Amino acid sequence: MKDNLPLSFSNFVGLKRVKQVLKHPSSSKGSFLFFGSIGCGKTDVARTHGAVLNCKNPDTIDWGSCGKCVSCRGQQWLHHFNCRSRSIQLLVEVIQRAYTFSPTHKVTCVVFDEVHLLSESDQEAMNKLLDPNAIPSHCLLIFTTHKRSKVSMSFSSRFIGLEFEPPTDPEMKTLASRIVRREGHDLSERQISAVIAKANGIPRLLLHAIEEEVRFSRG
Ligand SMILES: [Zn+2]
Repeated sequence: MKDNLPLSFSNFVGLKRVKQVLKHPSSSKGSFLFFGSIGCGKTDVARTHGAVLNCKNPDTIDWGSCGKCVSCRGQQWLHHFNCRSRSIQLLVEVIQRAYTFSPTHKVTCVVFDEVHLLSESDQEAMNKLLDPNAIPSHCLLIFTTHKRSKVSMSFSSRFIGLEFEPPTDPEMKTLASRIVRREGHDLSERQISAVIAKANGIPRLLLHAIEEEVRFSRG
């Protein structure tokens, strides 16, 4: 088993409320709906949170995992699906399996991306399973969507809803500078501004925009 990169909430700019809720012992588990625009870190925050809850040597201040312990390396606690390509039967089975306690890890973390792609009847089929009283304490279920309006009211009422707001310009600048340093590049203030403009408020696009700028400046 190879080491995995340590994951940490400090890698994400902004998202103050999201971090606050997830770090709080009374609200760190259960079922969540992460909603907000594309590329704002919903899936990455979900994985990070699961990693920290399972890590044998977690950083409880910055909410980070060590990347080295058996849990961080094996990641047996993580089940990650995209609703686009999966049948409702499989998704229901995954949740049912997650409800059975596994002695290999503390918290079973199931992430379903693009939950708005489930039809209303599929959402209905999951509703019973997601009754807050039915969810065992070792379970963390996270559903993500960038189209909250396509998630029915009765379905979304099952979740703790957390909004991922796009970063502000200063937050984008902090993140861009951090990535530039991490990747060992040297970009001027003007180049960083150009990169931020290109990423258009979407953190996920920053790395690509930075690499493009570096290639361009090398000519
Ligand atoms: Zn660890």
